[in-house]
Order: sequence, then structure tokens, then C-alpha cells
Amino acid sequence: MSSKEKIKELPDLEGKSAQEILHWANATFGKRVALASSFGLEDVVLIDIFLKINPKARIFTLDTGRLPQETYEVWERIEKRYAIRIKPYFPQAKDVERMVNTYGPNLFYESVELRKLCCRIRKVLPLNRALKGLSAWICGLRREQAVTRQQIKKIEVDVANKGIIKINPLADWTEKQVWGYIKENDLPYNSLHDRGYPSIGCTPCTRPIKPGEDIRAGRWWWESPESKECGLHCRL
Ligand code: SF4
Repeated sequence: MSSKEKIKELPDLEGKSAQEILHWANATFGKRVALASSFGLEDVVLIDIFLKINPKARIFTLDTGRLPQETYEVWERIEKRYAIRIKPYFPQAKDVERMVNTYGPNLFYESVELRKLCCRIRKVLPLNRALKGLSAWICGLRREQAVTRQQIKKIEVDVANKGIIKINPLADWTEKQVWGYIKENDLPYNSLHDRGYPSIGCTPCTRPIKPGEDIRAGRWWWESPESKECGLHCRL
């Protein structure tokens, strides 16, 4: 089936709550759906909702090898709280060795192209492996996060990832709603959020933001807002 045909067949989930959408995803796809987590605020909300629906839900993360220690700490806290394992996908060692040997360890500051090469090797290619065999994946994207995310739908055909279904249950949530759910349910979250980091990625590519700055301003801060995606969430 072509991507256009698939889009026509998608159910309309826009008016549904995150709980309703995850119930639907679990019933529809079973083991062929997985939640991608980078342990951001939205991810801890989705993990909680999804595991309440299915305690054996599949969750994976992409470990780029450049993550802050605080991310590993919240990863571990989540595993302990729910008595689960979150499956890690790492970049291929030979790809990283070749890249660093050619361009050096901090190539991402040199140009957008080299930054995207690093993201491709450390994130996109591992994501391709993580999505193999799945029919759908679930992400914590929200429309108000970035100019690149304003058009996302709660359910989409992910053309960049071989036409797999992509589900964004929190697409219409505000940051206030996310924090409200976290506090109400006493969820673990990355301690960097309390130190001025609203959005957290790899250590060398993330910094705290100043009051009034855009919430993604601390990600790849040396680039223009239009190029600030790592390739995991491209919309063609
Ligand atoms: Fe590399 Fe930075 Fe992308 Fe991480 S966020 S994969 S360190 S360029």
C-alpha cells in the first residue's frame, strides 16, 4: 500500500485523549508498536500512561554515547519504578570510529552537514534498527515545541521511515499540562529540567535557556530554528 493510500485509511484521532490513543494503539498493534523515549518530560508521561494500559509495553531508547549522566539517572529510576527494561539501541562502533577519525570528536560545531552526519550515525541509523519489524511507533512530540513541529498530527504516516505509522498522543498538550501530569503522578524526570534545560539531548548539543527564550533554543543553539531537527522526526 502506498503512503497516500495509508494516509486515507488512518483513523481520525485528533479529538481523542492520550489515554484513548494509547489504548487504541495497544489494541490495534499489540507487540508491533513501541514507544520511543529519550526520557524527556513528554516521554515520562507517555511511559506512565502506556504502562498503565499494558505493563509489558515495548519501550526503546537511542543511546548516542554522548548523553548527560542525568539522563542515565532518570532512565534507571524509571526502570526501577515500573520494574521494566528499556531496550537501548547504540550506534554501530565502526561508523562512529570512521566519523571521529575523519572529522574529529566535536564535528557537530563545524557545519550543519557534519552535525546532521553525527545525528544520522548516532540516532537515525539506530532508530532504523529499532523500528524494524514494527507497524507503528509512539513519540512525545508536541506542536508548541518548535516551528518544525507545528503541523504534526496525532497519527501520521512516517514517510521518512518507510511508511510506518507514527503516533503523537501529546501533539496538542501544552507544557503546563505535561508538568501537571508529572506532578500529579509524582513521576521521575530528568533533573536537568530544574536547571534551565526544557529540552535535553546530547551533552555537547544542549545548553540551558534564558527566561523568555524558545524551549528548543538550547538545542543546537548555533543553528537557525529551521534546521533544528536531528533527522528522527522529518516530515517530507
Ligand atoms: Fe551528535 Fe549532537 Fe546529534 Fe548527539 S545531538 S547525535 S552529539 S550532533
